Amino acid sequence: MNHEPAAHTSRTFAVGQLPSGGSIDVVEHTYRGAEGPTVSVIAGQHGIELNGTAVARRLGDRLSTMSIAGTVRVLPVANPPAMDHRSYMGPAAYDVVNPNLNRVWPGDSDGTLTERIAAYLWDRLADSDAIVDLHSGTPEMLTHVRYCDDGTTADRLATAFGVAHLLVDEPPKSDPPRTTLRNAASQAEIPALTVELANSREVATEAVAAGLEGVTNVLKTMGMVPGDIENTPTQQVLRDDIPAVCLSSAGLFEPASRVTVGDHVQVGTVLGTVHNPETFELVETITADRSGFVYSLSRGGANAAGERVASLASRASTADTEQD
Ligand SMILES: [Zn+2]
Repeated sequence: MNHEPAAHTSRTFAVGQLPSGGSIDVVEHTYRGAEGPTVSVIAGQHGIELNGTAVARRLGDRLSTMSIAGTVRVLPVANPPAMDHRSYMGPAAYDVVNPNLNRVWPGDSDGTLTERIAAYLWDRLADSDAIVDLHSGTPEMLTHVRYCDDGTTADRLATAFGVAHLLVDEPPKSDPPRTTLRNAASQAEIPALTVELANSREVATEAVAAGLEGVTNVLKTMGMVPGDIENTPTQQVLRDDIPAVCLSSAGLFEPASRVTVGDHVQVGTVLGTVHNPETFELVETITADRSGFVYSLSRGGANAAGERVASLASRASTADTEQD
């Protein structure tokens, strides 16, 4: 593939309107080199997940000094109202029906504010040859890349990204209701990655570095950036086919000190306890009812009944890189 110095342009487009009349603007950076594919990198769907936004600036700096093939489109803050309110989702005052942007794709230009934002963004993204959607997890979540087993090149791109844990989902059912960007892209046959870079609520140097290298690796594997992928770790592919571990009772959840993310637990392993914080009564002991890898585990909290405190996944395979 031919590579040429990337030309950088940026533009601002309105994705919604505030009650006071001002517009909600999203900035899109475009880095265009020689002829080639179009990759969209989007960050900041959730307003407290800052590492993806930090990756976006560094990616822009990197691409500005490179010769590339194709076009890299970077949307560093996909959901400005959420970032401005320093909240995971947009303000409920603006959209109590659909506050979570990453549940309403591909959006609805006649819908609620969040659906409209998604619809405007989808207009920008729908011509992509691949989409990388950068998120940050909680401190108790393994850094991982999630993709659909949908027959696109998503699996190859997820492997190339180069983090140790991959989480593979069944392809979305046909014509799903409003859904994640990954699932909407999969429906449109666009390979898409959801990248969970620990941690949210902070800019973590290691997470940002992993994200920058990961996106660069995706571009390398698509031939858009010259060079070979280096230092791919042993990778484990996990399948998200185990129901989330949720509390049946409200109370103060405390995780078991012997369990940590990345552990493989057996049926019956104690994951934590729930006490009534006022009466000291032990109301529930949370155990794994399936064996699997713990890829997220609450560090404890005042929880309502039904809230998720742990996520387990089964082992799908170990990618080929283990033998290399
Ligand atoms: Zn997120």
